[in-house]
Amino acid sequence: MKTQRVNPGNRLLLGLILGFCLGGPVAAAQDTVLPALPPADEGSLYVLYLNWDGFGYDLYERANQPPYPGTPNLNRLLAEGVLFTNASAGVPSLTAPMQTTLLTGAWPAVHGNYYRGYDREANLLRQTGRENAAETLGEVFVRAGLPTASIQQFALLDRGVWWDNPRHLYLEPGGRFAERVARAVDLLQGTPVESLHEWVVMPEPPRLLAIYADDLDVLGHNEHPAFGLPTAPDEAGRLDRTVRHLTGEDPEAYGFGGMDELLGRLLQALRDRGIYERTIIALASDHGMTGFSGRSSLPDLLATVAGLGYRVQFLRPGQSAFPDTQVVVWSAGLQAHLTFREDPGSEGYRRVVESLAGKEYYGGHLDREELARRGAHPQSGDLVVWPKPPNHFKADSARSYPARGQHDTLDPSSHRIFLALAGPGIRKGVIIDTPVYAVDLAPTLAHLLNLPAPAGAQGRVLVEALANYTAEEEADGAPQGSDSR
Ligand SMILES: [Zn+2]
Repeated sequence: MKTQRVNPGNRLLLGLILGFCLGGPVAAAQDTVLPALPPADEGSLYVLYLNWDGFGYDLYERANQPPYPGTPNLNRLLAEGVLFTNASAGVPSLTAPMQTTLLTGAWPAVHGNYYRGYDREANLLRQTGRENAAETLGEVFVRAGLPTASIQQFALLDRGVWWDNPRHLYLEPGGRFAERVARAVDLLQGTPVESLHEWVVMPEPPRLLAIYADDLDVLGHNEHPAFGLPTAPDEAGRLDRTVRHLTGEDPEAYGFGGMDELLGRLLQALRDRGIYERTIIALASDHGMTGFSGRSSLPDLLATVAGLGYRVQFLRPGQSAFPDTQVVVWSAGLQAHLTFREDPGSEGYRRVVESLAGKEYYGGHLDREELARRGAHPQSGDLVVWPKPPNHFKADSARSYPARGQHDTLDPSSHRIFLALAGPGIRKGVIIDTPVYAVDLAPTLAHLLNLPAPAGAQGRVLVEALANYTAEEEADGAPQGSDSR
């Protein structure tokens, strides 16, 4: 394609005309000449927030052990930053609630996105969508007058970024991480990108750029063929196809070098734009993934509670309990949630827990106090029981599942998330193994940019990750902040 040199204004016009007339990504492919953008403020900092859905910490460990080739681009980034090896999701560890938590610093009890829960007053099993009653990090940036952009990070849509808004831009290219990185590179180069109805050029790099990719989640669930790969027949194959997508061990099969190589391309785009040294990079996940297979243990769980003398009823979203139902049960696949419509008393509650804890499929449970302590929404129930892998509480009890993945469980494979920070103001080459939580990310990023934490944030600033961190702060008990929640 012929290279044209155009100024930013003409380029925008060209993009709009071509995009409008031809209805395709012609303008984006025009050329690679960088328009002369105004220089960013000296000293101003940027945030690149990457979220790899389903990137459990164990996946990172697996990718860096034989027979896999590792994640060299990610490891180079970690050598310049901080890796948290003991970062946890909240309850439930499902996508919408946890994506919301990461960007608000608030747990579901505050932001109100709990995925599925029983509303006692309305006698209704509710399902949430994009609900969020808390302020997002994007809204903090907007409040400070700073430009923002999001590539498919839906938790920011209309909450700090908007379709067709060249200063606070939302894009949804679909596809894989590869397509989203390509759009991010366009954005950083000042190339027109397609939003909802318009081709848009951001006049300056966004101070907050969020990119969401669900490749690992799709592969981890193993529900259908994905990215040209067949469904894996067993647990080893399920894990293998997920890890290989990350490491790019088989470029022939994927047509690209894996998500790790794409990360390298993205960081190179920051260097090319001249803002790498001023960019704080955060890579986080909402949850990991836990393998499950075989028949559901739900019928036994229901029978066990019924065997203690309770009238038990399993509910699906939109359903109500019968008037005489005493215990309502629901699930999103792995963990079972129980709500007692009549108070069983502490002895009755204890007997239910003990009966379920004696089962071979029992993985663990959270009682009322522990659910509240972890920020679960009141509608998440009075008791949550998660199964020992590969058991599950899927509603379809007639079906025997092949190797599949799901993540609404406190099992570490799902609950322990990947979290890393790098860039200005952050310690270099440090591993932090004290407990940190998904709620801590947004307050920490806001602090690094000298912005207020999002209103409603419950997390703490991860001071132990900051370059100016001193041992006295440790002696003062910085990590204990996490234990107080
Ligand atoms: Zn997810």
